[in-house]
Order: sequence, then C-alpha cells, then structure tokens
Amino acid sequence: MQLEILQYPDGRLRTVAADIKDVTPDIKKLCTDMLETMNVKGGAGLAAPQVGRSLRIFVMVDDEHSVFINPIITERSAATTISDEGCLSFKGFGFIKVKHSDTVTVSAIDIDGKLFSKKYDKLLSQCVQHEMRHLDGDLLIDHLE
Ligand code: ZN
Repeated sequence: MQLEILQYPDGRLRTVAADIKDVTPDIKKLCTDMLETMNVKGGAGLAAPQVGRSLRIFVMVDDEHSVFINPIITERSAATTISDEGCLSFKGFGFIKVKHSDTVTVSAIDIDGKLFSKKYDKLLSQCVQHEMRHLDGDLLIDHLE
C-alpha cells in the first residue's frame, strides 16, 4: 500500500522517532509499504517519520539490505564530501548541498528481526546519513552548505 509522504514544513517531520521494541506484523507491513512508496516515488531512501510514523525505521535502495530498524551509525570516516541532496519531503526544493562523511558503518535490524552491520560509501553512505537524520527530526534545510 502506498503511503502519503509528509511535506516540509509539516511539524511531524521534526519529531524524534522512538525505538522499535519488536518487529511485529504491523512493523513488517509498515516496512513493505515504505519500500513500495519509495519505489513508486523514485526515492533513494525513505524514513518512517516521513510517512507520519514516529519510529526508528528507514528503507533504502540496496540489494543486500533495504530495511533498517533501530539503525545506529557505529563508525564514520573523518573525510567528508559536500554533495547535492534531495528529499521526498522537500518537493519543489530541488537539490541542496549537504556535507556528509564519505563512509559509514551502520548496524540495524532487518525485516526478519536479524541484526546486521554493513559499511557504505558514495551515494549509499550519503543516503544512510540523510535517512538517519530524519529519525532525529533533523532535515535537509538544517544542513545548507
Ligand atoms: Zn529525506
């Protein structure tokens, strides 16, 4: 089921999201709905607060892992790059230049409730950092370079 994506300046985008206690059927359904919504909208990633659910979940276009529940960045490179960044909640804003770490390692729980850890670089590293910021109510507009 496709979900409605909240648009800036909707106040719900500023909420700090809560941890997931159990990967319940409702949470799994939310994850698959978020994946469907991301794919239909052509985004690289989507975070639960963007669909009005204040939960620490994001989805991302990656072959190996696409669902990240209770994600934590465990390591990030000192090296940074400033790149163009877009957001499905900032329609009509185009791209904004944002600074991000070149690589990040993220630990999260997948849709089957299994813990995993993976290192990302390039666009996916940027995407992880963007989606993680959504979980703390931190938006693109706060990172203008
Ligand atoms: Zn976004």
